[in-house]
Amino acid sequence: MRSFTYELLPGRVVFGSGTIVRLPVELDVLEASRVVLISDNMAKTDADQIESDLGGRVVGRIGEIEPHVPIEKVEAARRLTDDRQADAVVTIGGGSTTGVGKAIVLEKELSFLAIPTTYAGSEMTPIYGITVGDVKRTGRDPRVKPKTVIYDVDLTLDLPTEVTSGSTMNALAHCVEALYARERSPIVSIMALEGIRALKRGSMVVAGDPGNVDGRSDLLYGAFLAGASLGAVGMAIHHRICHVLGGTFGLAHGDANAVILPHVVAYNREAEPEVMAALADALGVAEPAQGIRELAETLGAPTSLAELGIKEPDLDRATEMIVDGVGYNPRPVEREWIRHLLEDAFAGRPPSAQ
Ligand code: NAD
Repeated sequence: MRSFTYELLPGRVVFGSGTIVRLPVELDVLEASRVVLISDNMAKTDADQIESDLGGRVVGRIGEIEPHVPIEKVEAARRLTDDRQADAVVTIGGGSTTGVGKAIVLEKELSFLAIPTTYAGSEMTPIYGITVGDVKRTGRDPRVKPKTVIYDVDLTLDLPTEVTSGSTMNALAHCVEALYARERSPIVSIMALEGIRALKRGSMVVAGDPGNVDGRSDLLYGAFLAGASLGAVGMAIHHRICHVLGGTFGLAHGDANAVILPHVVAYNREAEPEVMAALADALGVAEPAQGIRELAETLGAPTSLAELGIKEPDLDRATEMIVDGVGYNPRPVEREWIRHLLEDAFAGRPPSAQ
């Protein structure tokens, strides 16, 4: 066995169907009595129910969320927590909503409880991102990781197909890049491979039966493991590419993941034969890049960047930005390859190793 370092991150996870009823007790554990409730407007009904259940404990609400955590929204949210003398933040929504909570607790010592309704996995990580102008800056700080996460499968049963597909592919990407991350470890690989199996299993059910509780439960369980994997390691070139496509060009994060992941897996395949064999086994396919592409198609996720709104002339600027901030990748990354990948992805060509 190769040597490794693995850092356990603190946090409490409550998982299951109907677990939202535990919220008041979980807030008691955190000794939270003045809550600012932040919700995606698509989760408004659930947020209204929470406010009603918590009674006077909710002292402020934010119900409009923009993608990629713009600094102006963060500053407004921080002011609200000050004005209302809040001692806790509760978020209910996807990664963008969790991201606002993280940006608040980065600068203010408040309890933070997250209730995710997508598969982004941000709730399990100490990673935050804030967008200033058209540039999204990210960082790691243990203070931003929610103290408690409530995963309630029931809240995800109505998640629209287009969100389900991109978000599932985002979770899959977290698992895949955790397998070949520089900081990989046996513990993380166990979580990531189990996450991949659960995401595949859940996808095959939910694609045909979106409200299936068992299928949704597998997807949420996979997303939890994906987030836990992401929180324990650094990512590689796939995430750098999606970060630029989302933060600067406004592409939906999950959709960008769905398009890019097969291309990156094809590229990294030769550099990591054992990892790719384990990945293929977990997916139940012979060829992992093709298997991931087929999974995206099964879920109805996009397979070309052109569908997502980026224009071909933008690919040059995207290439420069990706290369400028490139970090670890198991196979060295060259500018030409990035440009080539973006072209293939733009046109929706099948993944190739080059
Ligand atoms: P998101 O939060 O923007 O949600 C995606 C879409 O789902 C939105 O249109 C939203 O309205 C909709 N939605 C959310 N909850 C819903 C519900 N209950 N019912 C119906 N629709 C609902 O995006 P996301 O894919 O969840 O997360 C992506 C964002 O999270 C990106 O900004 C990404 O960078 C960030 N992220 C951060 C981390 C981290 O560790 N910091 C990890 C993963 C993702």
